Amino acid sequence: MPNRIKKIAVLTSGGDSPGMNAAIRSVVRTCAYHDVECIGIYQGYQGMIDDEFTALDARSVKGIINKGGTFLKSARSQEFRTKEGREKAHKNLLKHNIDALVVIGGDGSFTGGLVFNQEFGFPVIGIPGTIDNDIYGTTHTLGFDTALNTVVDAIDKIRDTASSHNRLFFIEVMGRDVGHIALNAGIAGGAEEILIPEEDLGLDRLVDSLNKSRKSGKTSSIVVVAEGDKIGKNIFELKEYVDQNMEGYDVRVSVLGHMQRGGAPSCFDRVLASRMGVKAVESLLEGKTNYMVGLLDSKMELTPLEKAIKGKTKINLELLRVSDIMTT
Ligand code: ATP
Repeated sequence: MPNRIKKIAVLTSGGDSPGMNAAIRSVVRTCAYHDVECIGIYQGYQGMIDDEFTALDARSVKGIINKGGTFLKSARSQEFRTKEGREKAHKNLLKHNIDALVVIGGDGSFTGGLVFNQEFGFPVIGIPGTIDNDIYGTTHTLGFDTALNTVVDAIDKIRDTASSHNRLFFIEVMGRDVGHIALNAGIAGGAEEILIPEEDLGLDRLVDSLNKSRKSGKTSSIVVVAEGDKIGKNIFELKEYVDQNMEGYDVRVSVLGHMQRGGAPSCFDRVLASRMGVKAVESLLEGKTNYMVGLLDSKMELTPLEKAIKGKTKINLELLRVSDIMTT
């Protein structure tokens, strides 16, 4: 193996997502398996600057595979965006004799990792941890599956009350730039309409569609709205519009918010996190750097960090069609 790596550090950065703990556990245990020391860095890049390092062995990550969030904590660090901040961080890595870094986070965290590598030639591998599923180079980011299950569970519960009172519910889910959560959870929750940033349904069509579904005998409706939907109105403005343009509907709004990020990771996310951790460490040991590990065609694959950051994920057109047919 080229340049034998003896010590690897791992951190979580940006927004947290379910499965991050499972990924840290996997990184730590893969290091132990290969007789490589592992260091955890608290508070993402800020902890790298502030020297918040802790030695981790296989036993220090027991009992966390089923826990949401990240025990290493996550942070957004303004200081790491500055050259001085990154220099401090680099000095700390050298002080602790660390040879390579695993960054678990979103595209912003990967950008930070790439800049750091370009400045100091420090080996970096990324693991995509974000519920939005908005990272190129993987069909699933860590936490996406768990978030979907959380949202579907919430939709099911809201539907119970919607149908008991003949109500129309607008349910806002996360997804400022992408509608993966809204589209998938909307189909699974039997939503009558799904509004996503990639598609412009238009307010008139929305009202037409709701009228149609009422005429077809439906007495309650669920509309799932991604935060960044193209109509551009926030969910309360949508309610107001429907109140003014449709008679006889009792319209309610529910914003699911941060609950979507929490909770125990699903089986899928635990397995994915375990696979990603192994691939990340073993790639570093093979001398690879500046890649993100991802799931493509059911296999663990590497995508250059630059591509993962710049590439855009596309909405699945087949799902859009399925959703159209299901709302007939
Ligand atoms: P999420 O998808 O939840 O937003 P993210 O990883 O994209 O996660 P960001 O806040 O965009 O979250 O980035 C996390 C951290 O990465 C930032 O707080 C900053 O420390 C670092 N970072 C982001 N962009 C850069 C950059 N251009 N240069 C240096 N560091 C950066």
